[in-house]
This record gives sequence, structure tokens and C-alpha cells, in this order.
Amino acid sequence: MTVSLPPLRDVIARHGLSASKALGQNFLFDEKLLDRIAAIPGSLAGEHVYEVGPGPGGLTRALLRAGAHVVAVERDHRCLPALAELSEAFPGQLRVIEGDALKIDPFTEIGAPFHIVSNLPYNVGTALAVGWLGGNAWPPTWKSLTLMFQREVADRIVSSPGTGAYGRLAILAQWRSNASIAMPVHRSAFTPPPKVMSAVVHITPKDAASGVKMSVLENLTGAAFGQRRKMLRQSLKSVPGALEALQKTGIAEDRRPETISIAEWCALAREVG
Ligand code: SAM
Repeated sequence: MTVSLPPLRDVIARHGLSASKALGQNFLFDEKLLDRIAAIPGSLAGEHVYEVGPGPGGLTRALLRAGAHVVAVERDHRCLPALAELSEAFPGQLRVIEGDALKIDPFTEIGAPFHIVSNLPYNVGTALAVGWLGGNAWPPTWKSLTLMFQREVADRIVSSPGTGAYGRLAILAQWRSNASIAMPVHRSAFTPPPKVMSAVVHITPKDAASGVKMSVLENLTGAAFGQRRKMLRQSLKSVPGALEALQKTGIAEDRRPETISIAEWCALAREVG
């Protein structure tokens, strides 16, 4: 179905949507780029999608064109009339919730497995991703995450041991998910352009390492990366059972946290119990 929509720049002008820095508003207008982002999760025909921060609806249009049923949460009430027009153009496909995504459980809203696709507001993007990745239940209710981040955050999510970017975010994202950079996005693609480059990260869940508790992994990595320059024998002192776990797993006490692979972190967490 081809739906004829006005150019996004006209929508912004007609509804007076000047970008708010406080709300992390950097809009995308290039519809080809938006269609490419919407294609990252694979076919969305008939799929449920949760979008945070639709703004004037650029990415939302692309998701609707791809045949998705979209639930979108937007904090800026000024965007609601533009989104209502989009809802009319794609009858039955779009539901908009005015609210704060930090306070919303998408599964409660959708009630079925869903994909999350979002050009995230930078000020809350990491907190949202940590919430989606850190749930106790696994596999999660989401089927995939397709998220635009500042390039530096994207690099931390997909980073490997031994690199400066490797830390808690990489471990959280990779111990039970596959995470990759799907598309670098130049700052000039946004209006207004942010100071830094961006990238879309694609994340899909995989089997969690058996016998590993999220809370234990968090305690270990929190203690170790909280004192990144220290050897594990020093930084892990505060975690009960951690020094014994180092011995049992054969991980040398004089190593530093960024050298420990995700499999090794999981082995330690399993041992700590
Ligand atoms: N999706 C649009 C696009 O790609 O052009 C806009 C993306 S813009 C980077 C981020 C959007 O998130 C803005 O529309 C902003 O108002 C909204 N936003 C900011 N904080 C939010 C929050 N806590 N909950 C829901 N939406 C939020």
C-alpha cells in the first residue's frame, strides 16, 4: 500500500515543532535512510513494534510503511497532532502514548512479543537500553532492539575485551545477546545536527549462560570496573566469594577487568552463585 504523506519538514513547520535540546530532539528527515533503519530488524509486516520518541514521526512512517503495528511513546505533547495525522493515514496500525518511556513497560502495553526500534533521545537512551537488557526474565519479551545511539555509546555496547570501550555495557549487552553496529549515521543526517556521530545498534537475544544470575554478574562487574585500573585481587575484595571464584576458575588475580572475556565473567558469576 502506498500512502502519500507530506514532507517531514512541512509537518515540522505546520506544527511548530522547533527541536528541544532538553528532550534530546535531533530529527531525521531522509526517508530513504529511515526506510533503511526500519529494515534492520528484518520484515516487519504484521509485527508489533515499540518506538520510543516518535517526535514528528519520521521513523514511525517508515515502520508503518513496512507493515508494522506500532505503539509509540512520546513525551513532547507538541508532537501529538502530527502523530494523529499519521495514525489516520495508517488506520489501525499506530497507537501513540503520551508519557515518559522510562516509566513504561512495553509488554504491558502490547501484550505480545515485539521489536523495539528507536532513534533514542540521547539523555535517556542508555538508561532505557540498560533496562531492556537487564531484565531478570530471559528470553525477554522483545524480539530485537534496533537503537540509534551516539557513536561512543554504540562502540561501548559492541566492544571486545582488551579495548578501552569494553566495560559493563558490553557485558550486559553481549552475555545473552548478539550485538552489532548495523549502520553508522553521520551527524549531518539530523536536524539539528548533534555534536557527535551516531550509529544504529542491532541486538538480538540468545541463550543465557546457564547458572549465571544477572544480579551476581552486575555485582562483580560493578566492583571490578568501578576500579578499572586495579587488579581483580583488589577490586573484587568487596564481593563475597569472588576471590575464591577467581581461584576455582583459574583466572589470575593480577588481571585487570578489561582483559576478562564475557565467558570468563560468566564463569566467575556462576562460581559466586
Ligand atoms: N523519532 C524521531 C526521529 O527519528 O526523527 C525523533 C527522535 S529524537 C532523537 C528523540 C525523541 O524522543 C524526541 O521526539 C523526544 O521528544 C522524545 N523523548 C525524549 N525523552 C523521552 C522520554 N523520556 N520518553 C519518551 N519520549 C522521549
